[in-house]
Amino acid sequence: MPKPHKWVISGIAGFLFVLFLLPSEPVNAYKNPKPALEIGKRYDLDVNFDNFSVENFTGLEETTKVKSVVVKQGDNLAIIFKRNGLSPQQTYRVSKAGKLAKKLLKILPGEVLELHIDQQGQLTSLHYPYSNTDTLVITQNQDNSFSSQVKTLDLDTRLNYTQGDVTNSFWNAGLKANLSNNQIMQVAGIFGWDIDFALGLRAGDSFYVMFEEHYINGEFVENGNIIAAQFVNQGETYTAIRYDDGNFYTPEGRSMRKSFLRAPVNFRYISSSFKKKRFHPVQKRWKAHRGVDYAADRGTPVIAAGDGKVIRAAYNKYNGHHVFIQHGEKYVTKYLHFTKRKVKRGQTVKQGQLIGTVGSTGLASGPHLHYEFLVNGVHRNPRTVNLPKAQPIAKKEKAKFIDIATTRLQQLNNSKRIMLAMN
Ligand SMILES: [Zn+2]
Repeated sequence: MPKPHKWVISGIAGFLFVLFLLPSEPVNAYKNPKPALEIGKRYDLDVNFDNFSVENFTGLEETTKVKSVVVKQGDNLAIIFKRNGLSPQQTYRVSKAGKLAKKLLKILPGEVLELHIDQQGQLTSLHYPYSNTDTLVITQNQDNSFSSQVKTLDLDTRLNYTQGDVTNSFWNAGLKANLSNNQIMQVAGIFGWDIDFALGLRAGDSFYVMFEEHYINGEFVENGNIIAAQFVNQGETYTAIRYDDGNFYTPEGRSMRKSFLRAPVNFRYISSSFKKKRFHPVQKRWKAHRGVDYAADRGTPVIAAGDGKVIRAAYNKYNGHHVFIQHGEKYVTKYLHFTKRKVKRGQTVKQGQLIGTVGSTGLASGPHLHYEFLVNGVHRNPRTVNLPKAQPIAKKEKAKFIDIATTRLQQLNNSKRIMLAMN
């Protein structure tokens, strides 16, 4: 006579053993092209479960489908739920899943919602990763209501460095140094008060950038802030250190931000004529007609070089559409040949504000910005004129800033040495 007790025990052991063999992840099957057991296939075991509670194994029976849904233009939660066979009642219950669920009102095209749907076609949970680190998770409760929470991944910040030499344009040099478009514009922004990126670069110029990178679980997700940068322009070295306030300062604690931008146009729009510039034709032309010409496509935005007040915005047959700005007592800037003026006389403007677009109105052979800079009524070369000194960092921030700057400079020099050794 068999002993049922023993038989059941060995049956359970066998079942558990088979469970152990079952590949748990598809990736295992992928690595092993001929698995002993197929995924998704059920293997019947000749086991008597009569005396055995199967409660612990019900999870194996249920297959919850996970649907990744990309939000389309014009979508809202109700539309998405309907498209995926979920009822309006479920939409309603999810929308009532607490304050955090309000984030679902702001879903944007291209974002992804993960819907977990059980065999009965009921939503069991919803995952909405709304940033690189944060995911809204809405889960069903026992009573069919839903509750919401936000799960946040740890962002790991690392430092990275790059450097480059300018051979034709800063844009190309930046790309070659693996800077993103955004980072290239940021660097140009950091040094835009000192360096004319449109016409002032020369062969032999170089740059160096130290920046943060964000990682999650060891995987790169995005660039963080630029925290220090150096630019050597025409033999002069400019160094900028980022402070906690988000602004950049020289290592001595003077703001990089100055009263005037070196160039009132974005360097990206300027026709590349880098090689010619080595012979300083601009300098010659400046002497001839008391201004600097920036050749650029018609419609290129022109910005105010500094804060000020528009003292003239008009048209005549020489200057075409033109704008003059008074900056304090001493300075006036003039901008000629616009296609369109974007400001009116008497208007107050901020540095960087759009004041007109490049054109060829008046006496101009082709579309370009003619830019003049006057100090006490005398024309000066805007690209070489000594400009008012920048504001120093606030006194109470000074000590802290110098600490940071010292560390940054050390990191900068160390990494430079390392990069030099690698080349
Ligand atoms: Zn001109």
